[in-house]
Amino acid sequence: MAEQVHVNLPGREYVVEIGEGLLGQAGAYVAPLLRRPRVAVISDETVAGLHLETLRAGLAADGIAMEALLLPPGEATKCWDALTRCVEWLLDQQIERGDVVVAFGGGVIGDLVGFAASVLRRGVRFVQIPTSLLAQVDSSVGGKTGINTRHGKNLVGAFHQPSLVLADTSVLGTLEPRDFLAGYGEVVKYGLLGDAAFFDWLEAQGPALAAGDSAARIEAVRRSVQMKADIVMRDETEQGERALLNLGHTFGHALEAATGYSDRLLHGEGVAIGCALAFELSARMGLCAQEAPSRVRAHLRAMGMKVDLRDIDGELPDAEALLALMGQDKKVVEGQLRFILARAIGDSFVTGEVAKADVLTLLTDALA
Ligand code: NAD
Repeated sequence: MAEQVHVNLPGREYVVEIGEGLLGQAGAYVAPLLRRPRVAVISDETVAGLHLETLRAGLAADGIAMEALLLPPGEATKCWDALTRCVEWLLDQQIERGDVVVAFGGGVIGDLVGFAASVLRRGVRFVQIPTSLLAQVDSSVGGKTGINTRHGKNLVGAFHQPSLVLADTSVLGTLEPRDFLAGYGEVVKYGLLGDAAFFDWLEAQGPALAAGDSAARIEAVRRSVQMKADIVMRDETEQGERALLNLGHTFGHALEAATGYSDRLLHGEGVAIGCALAFELSARMGLCAQEAPSRVRAHLRAMGMKVDLRDIDGELPDAEALLALMGQDKKVVEGQLRFILARAIGDSFVTGEVAKADVLTLLTDALA
């Protein structure tokens, strides 16, 4: 039996199923959503090479046929050109309003395909089958979809909730260790932003989880998804509390932009470094104890993750330039940067009350 998390948004409720081997049972989960026994699956070449046939067999077991479009892996695929390809291909496949589109891959595929589904024929339903740790704990749940533009990340998109999320934790076994740890950055984020007991648990269980312990992986995904679902149910369109999920992201997005959204820094790595910086800023502003940022950094280090700006290969722009990149963040309101800061581990809040000079000093020290 899979673990379940219910996302109870009135009129758009769905279930997140979490467990081992769900791909092979995909047909049984998807069938109740279908008006005719076929789905259009969009994936990336890496994921498809490893897992598409398992998904195909899982759907076929319930008599469901699938066609697949495969896109190049990587963040660069979250772009206008790929969106056009998805939408035109779905129209070629004669996907109708009543059909279901499947996003099968990491956060890149989930965000892109979810957005394509939201605009196709003014909105068709879609199923998320997340295959990276990041996508299972974060991006597949909550309905944020979109693409990047030359102005920055995720600046074009839509809220479009999936009709079902199938998180098969056994596929995490084929992730590159670096991709696994990048996703772990988002798991740690949940503990840091709202659940100190979960952070304690991660300090104890993190190494087993990274080494492949199945029960620990299921539990980490379940707790992360439950926390995200709870927040999304209270604030679907980010009028307030949902912004807490962006802990570490204001810094992280600026670092991703500074490294050209390249292999130099993965999204989840930027989030982890960003969390460490957010706690450091909080301590310097006297909001939380000095020990808090040290504990955050110690855990990230123990997991073999990037923690400091110097862990990023190559040159970074100076502090002024990084601050300018933060100005593109979607959390900017009337030109005022908004940060997620912390009173303690597990107790974060949103604020616009941060002096630019403090951020500049923090970044200058971090770059030194
Ligand atoms: P990704 O989709 O690029 O996946 C990372 C890499 O792992 C890719 O090379 C992919 O091919 C590979 N991969 C995925 N699953 C695999 C598997 N099971 N085995 C082997 N390889 C596998 O990136 P990601 O880290 O999953 O997601 C990052 C994206 O998610 C970013 O664009 C970010 O903005 C977005 N995101 C969105 C939300 C949201 O709420 N919508 C939240 C967080 C992040």
